[in-house]
Amino acid sequence: MQKFCKTCNKKFEIREEDLIFYEQVKTTPPLFCPDCRMMQRLAFRNERTFYKRTCDLCKKNIISIYTGSAPFPIYCHECWWSDAWDPKSFAQDYDLNKTFFEQYKKLQSKVPRLALMIVNSVRSEYTNGAAENKDCYLIFAADYNQDCLYGRLVQRSRSCVDCAFIYDSELCYECIDVHKCFKCMYSEQCEGSSDLIFCYNMRDSNNCIFCTNGRHISNAILNVKYTKEEYEKKKTEIFSNYENIEKAKKEFEELKKKTIVKYALQTKCHKVTGDYIYNCYDGESVFDSSDLKNCSYMADAESGIDSMDCNNYYHKNELCYNIMGVLQSSKSKNCAFVFYSNEAEYCENCYHMTNAFGCIAIRKGQYMILNKEYSKEKYFELRKEIDEQMKKDDTFGQFFPPEIAPFGFNETLGYDYYPITKEESIKRGFNWQNQTTGTYGKETIKEKDMPKTIGEVTENILNEILVCKDCKKNFRITKSELDFYKRMNIPLPHKDFECRHQDRMKKRNPRKLWHRSCMCEVKNHQHGTEKCENEFETSYSPDRPEIVYCETCYQQEVY
Ligand SMILES: [Zn+2]
Ligand SMILES: [Zn+2]
Ligand SMILES: [Zn+2]
Ligand SMILES: [Zn+2]
Ligand SMILES: [Zn+2]
Repeated sequence: MQKFCKTCNKKFEIREEDLIFYEQVKTTPPLFCPDCRMMQRLAFRNERTFYKRTCDLCKKNIISIYTGSAPFPIYCHECWWSDAWDPKSFAQDYDLNKTFFEQYKKLQSKVPRLALMIVNSVRSEYTNGAAENKDCYLIFAADYNQDCLYGRLVQRSRSCVDCAFIYDSELCYECIDVHKCFKCMYSEQCEGSSDLIFCYNMRDSNNCIFCTNGRHISNAILNVKYTKEEYEKKKTEIFSNYENIEKAKKEFEELKKKTIVKYALQTKCHKVTGDYIYNCYDGESVFDSSDLKNCSYMADAESGIDSMDCNNYYHKNELCYNIMGVLQSSKSKNCAFVFYSNEAEYCENCYHMTNAFGCIAIRKGQYMILNKEYSKEKYFELRKEIDEQMKKDDTFGQFFPPEIAPFGFNETLGYDYYPITKEESIKRGFNWQNQTTGTYGKETIKEKDMPKTIGEVTENILNEILVCKDCKKNFRITKSELDFYKRMNIPLPHKDFECRHQDRMKKRNPRKLWHRSCMCEVKNHQHGTEKCENEFETSYSPDRPEIVYCETCYQQEVY
């Protein structure tokens, strides 16, 4: 079935499987295309925009993802989780003469929100969407790390700085999509390797510089074997000063353009389209996910079955639909941040809920609507009436409208993946944050006067204010960061955290798929003397320079 998206007007396909799923979770087909649905959800996730403000209960100075002028109260971790307030005291009676979202918005303006999402962390105040970290700073969507600084999606790692999508690694710097790596720098898509510098897609390799698609190789430069001394000489040359690193970065970008790539990063996957996925079965448009079965239109998801349109979805969910942030829940839909809940709808920041509709910040409850408790019978009676009402105003089964999102679109992950202008955001109904954080023009060192080598840097740098080469925002170097650069012999960065993060994100493929065919023309493959005819959905757009291979051809050339 084809439909036109109510927001962007683009034609989109609703598959037979989708219709079966909508029936299963008792909802109607969406009015918006998969991209617009993704944007609506991402608008609920501000990971990295921090503000200094006070806790509205204890008045302590805190760091928060909400500005001081946010319309709802913001509580620090201790206050929010305390018994000093009762979320059920904000209960509202349902008024069938007003729209649901009108009433929900009123509730939203009163109920306290948590300043940051941090669980069980030690000396890691500047983290968010993060749990079980120790001595970490500015890491996001990150769990079980120690001494990690500046990164998004950092998992079970130690002493890693400026990395994204890094797992079980140690002492890495500027790495993206790496697993189980040690002392790797400026490398991408590597696994089980150590001492790689500017390497791409390597497995079980060590001491390599400018190598691509290597398996079990050591002491190599440009995939050619060298002596240990020559490797060390090259390494010293690259890291001797800032200019040489910048030159090496450009060389690496050129090298990547000429490399053979697999159409998608899929491992142990079957009948699924998407990229950066592991152990996924039966699905469409799945990105950065693992262990999913029969899930579609998902991103940043781990372990679950029969779900659609979910982001940041972890620990065995089932039959979930259109949710941003969900943990161990089932049969829930159109929610943001629901944990250990069943049959929750239009709930935000709720825990241990069963049969709940339009609730905020409830920690345990059942048969609740707008934070008010009902008997089982009364709950279902009222739910029926609300469903009828929402069917009439065409909002039934659709996600929260954009203006309900508690952030400016430009503060959220939505802006990372869909960088639309302020005008376009407002046209789509999103909020926009005009107040920017940080300072400009306060630098005590100009970019051109930055020390060229790490050797010349003393602890005095910790008192200096630096300036970002790109956005001109001021930034500082922290003590643990400086110690890391000294230890690893890396010159100081010339960009602030945000610009460094954006640079890394640009190196990853977009969450978008193009239908293409294999570019392989190697003669002794299964396709004989003809060009390979295999087709696939790939996140490499047709105008990109990389040589894109199907699974079979890639396996023959690289493994
Ligand atoms: Zn659309
Ligand atoms: Zn407080
Ligand atoms: Zn910048
Ligand atoms: Zn092929
Ligand atoms: Zn081939």
